[in-house]
Amino acid sequence: MTDPAIRVQHVSKQFGDTVVLRDISLEVPKGEVTCLIGPSGSGKSTLLRCMAFLEEATSGTILIEGEPLGFVDGPGGRKRQTPADLRRTRSRIGMVFQQFNLWPHMTALGNVSAALRRVRGMAKAAAEERAMVQLRKVGLEERAHHYPSQLSGGQQQRVAIARALALDPTIMLFDEPTSALDPELTGEVLNVMRALADEGMTMVVVTHEIGFAASVGNRVAFLDHGRLLFHDTPEKVFAAPREPRLEQFLDTYLDRGAAMLK
Ligand code: ADP
Ligand code: MG
Repeated sequence: MTDPAIRVQHVSKQFGDTVVLRDISLEVPKGEVTCLIGPSGSGKSTLLRCMAFLEEATSGTILIEGEPLGFVDGPGGRKRQTPADLRRTRSRIGMVFQQFNLWPHMTALGNVSAALRRVRGMAKAAAEERAMVQLRKVGLEERAHHYPSQLSGGQQQRVAIARALALDPTIMLFDEPTSALDPELTGEVLNVMRALADEGMTMVVVTHEIGFAASVGNRVAFLDHGRLLFHDTPEKVFAAPREPRLEQFLDTYLDRGAAMLK
C-alpha cells in the first residue's frame, strides 16, 4: 500500500491554555482534493499550518508521503528532526495564503523567479524560463512584466499560485485563497485550482466556497471548535439530513454554492 500524501495522527494544538486542535486524525490521499471547512476560529488555518510545519503540533504526528514532518518518534519520545530533513520534507509542500504576499517591487516574473533563485539556487535565465512556464499555466504570460500594483487581486493570487508551483511541490495547501478577493475575481482563481486538481495535484483547501468544496473536493473535512466532526465525500457530508452543527455553518456561510445544495 502506498503512503497517503499526508497522514495526521492524533494532532492536538494549544496556544497557552487555549486548545485549538483536539486529537485530529485524518489522511489526505495522493492525487485527491480535501476541502477543510468550518466556522471562523475552528482551527482550520492552524491545522493547515501544522501540515506545513509553520506551526508545531503540541502532540501527535504528521507524516508527509510516509516521512515524518518536524518530529521523529524515537525510543525516548519524539525528537526534533534535523534542519536538513525538515527542509527536505517541507520542500514537497507548496502553500498559498489568503494574502498573496507578493514582493511589490518585483514583477510577476520576478516574484516567481526570485523564489526559484533563492530556494533552488537557480541561475537567473533558467529561473525566468521556468517562472514563465508557471505563469503560462495560470494564464498570466501576458502579465509577466507587470508589478503587483498593476494586477487585479485575482491575478496577484494566480501569481502566488505560480510561485508555489514553480518549486515543484507534490502537495499544495491553500488557506482561503479567495477570501480577500472581490466576488467577481474568485472564479478565475478557483478555475486555476480546479485545473490543478484535474491534473492530479494533491491539495488541501481551506475554503468557504461550498460550491467548490462540493464539486472539486474528493473529501470534505468539517472542523468545529478544534474537533474534526466529519471527514467524508461531499455527497455524504452535504446530504440531507445534515448534522445540526454543519447545518448551522451552512446557514451562516451560505453562498451561491451552498444555495445550490439546498
Ligand atoms: P480558523 O482558520 O478556522 O478561523 P484558526 O486556526 O486561525 O481558525 O484559529 C483557531 C483558534 O486559535 C482561534 O481561537 C484563534 O484565536 C487561535 N489562535 C490562532 N493562532 C494563534 C496564535 N498564534 N496564538 C494564540 N491563539 C491563536
Ligand atoms: Mg483561518
